[in-house]
Amino acid sequence: MTRIALLGATGSIGRQAIEVIEASPNLELVAAASGSSVIDGLAPLTQVGGDLTELLERAQPDVVLNAVVGFAGLAPTMWALENGVTLALANKESLVAAGALALDALERGGGSMIPVDSEHSALFQCAQLGEPETLVLTASGGPFRGKTREQLASVTPAEALAHPTWNMGPKITIDSATLANKGLEVIEAHFLFGVPYDRIEVVVHPTSIVHGLVRFRDGASIAHLGYPDMRVPISYALTYPERAATPVPPLQLTTLEFFPPDVDTFRMLALAREAGERGGTYPCAYNAANEVAVAAFLAGRIGFLDIAAAVEDALGRVSGAPATSLAELVEADHVARNAVAIP
Ligand code: NDP
Ligand code: MG
Repeated sequence: MTRIALLGATGSIGRQAIEVIEASPNLELVAAASGSSVIDGLAPLTQVGGDLTELLERAQPDVVLNAVVGFAGLAPTMWALENGVTLALANKESLVAAGALALDALERGGGSMIPVDSEHSALFQCAQLGEPETLVLTASGGPFRGKTREQLASVTPAEALAHPTWNMGPKITIDSATLANKGLEVIEAHFLFGVPYDRIEVVVHPTSIVHGLVRFRDGASIAHLGYPDMRVPISYALTYPERAATPVPPLQLTTLEFFPPDVDTFRMLALAREAGERGGTYPCAYNAANEVAVAAFLAGRIGFLDIAAAVEDALGRVSGAPATSLAELVEADHVARNAVAIP
C-alpha cells in the first residue's frame, strides 16, 4: 500500500488525483490539504490552510503529490526532497524557483522526484531508454495560437481561460495562453533531466497527442503519445515503476501537426529561456513576476500583453544573484514580486 499526501486536493490536479487514488486498491490517501476551500468527503483528512510541512511531518507519507499552485508549493517540495520521500511533482513553480537548491535537497535526501506535468512525465518515460541528447516539449499553443499582437491587446480573461485541449486551474490556463507555461516547463525540464537549455526545444502541436520526444545520440528518437488527460501522468507518478489501469481510451492514430512557436508574439517563452540561461535566481524572479502579473490580468487590472511587459521589466530590476539557502530564495521571490509594476 502506498500512502499518499495530496496537497492542493481541491484543484484540477487534486480532484483527478483523488479519482486515481480511489480507483486503485494499492493507493491510500493519508492526508490532504487545500488553501481555503474544503472538499466533500475528505473532511477528516483535510487541512485547510495552515503549515503544509507540519501536516507532512504528522502524516509521514510514502509519496507527496504536490498539486498546490504557485510558489506556495515550495515548502512541501523541499520537505519531500530533504526527507527522501518520493515527490510526485505537479507544482512546477517550486522546481523552477528553487532549481539547484531542490536538486541538492534531492541528493541529500536520496529519494526520487517523479514529474506529473504531462510533458515531463512523457520525457521521464522516454528517458528510461537511454541518456537524452535533446528534449522536445510540445505545446498546444493555447487559445490564442496564430493571433497577432494587435489582436492580443484586447483579449479578456474569459477568452484566455478557454483552453482548447486541457481543462486546468486558472493560473496555469493563463500561463498556457501566454506560453509562460511552456517557459516554466523548459526550466523544469532543465532541472529534471540535466539537459542544457540549447538542447531543449519547444514545438507547437495543437491537439496535444504527442507529449514529449527524446532524441538519443544514435539518431533514434522516442516520443510519448496519448490523449490529453492528466489522470495518465498522475497515475504513472503514483504507481511508478508499475502502470495501473486508467479509464482513458486507447489511442487511435490520426494526422499530427507540428509548428514552430511564435516567440516574438508570445514573449513569455523567450523570457523564460533568458531567465534560465542567466541562472541564479532569475528563474525564481520570472516565476514570481509572472504570478503577480497573471493575478493582475485575471483581476482585470492589466491587459494580456502587459503580462510579458511586466515580467520583462521586473527581470530588469532584480539582481538574480544565486540563493544559497531557502531563506535567500524566499527573499528573492519577495523582491521580484515587489519589482512588478502594476498600474
Ligand atoms: P488549481 O488552481 O486548480 O488548484 C490549486 C490547488 O492548490 C487548490 O487545491 C488550492 O486550494 C491549493 N492551494 C493554493 N494555495 C495553497 C496554499 N497556500 N496551501 C495549500 N493549498 C493551496 O491548480 P491546478 O490543479 O491546475 O494546478 C496545480 C499545479 O499543477 C500547478 O503548479 C500547475 O502548474 C500544475 N499543473 C497542472 C496541470 C493541470 O492540468 N491542471 C497540468 C500540469 C501541471 P483552494 O481550492 O483552497 O484554493
Ligand atoms: Mg505541462
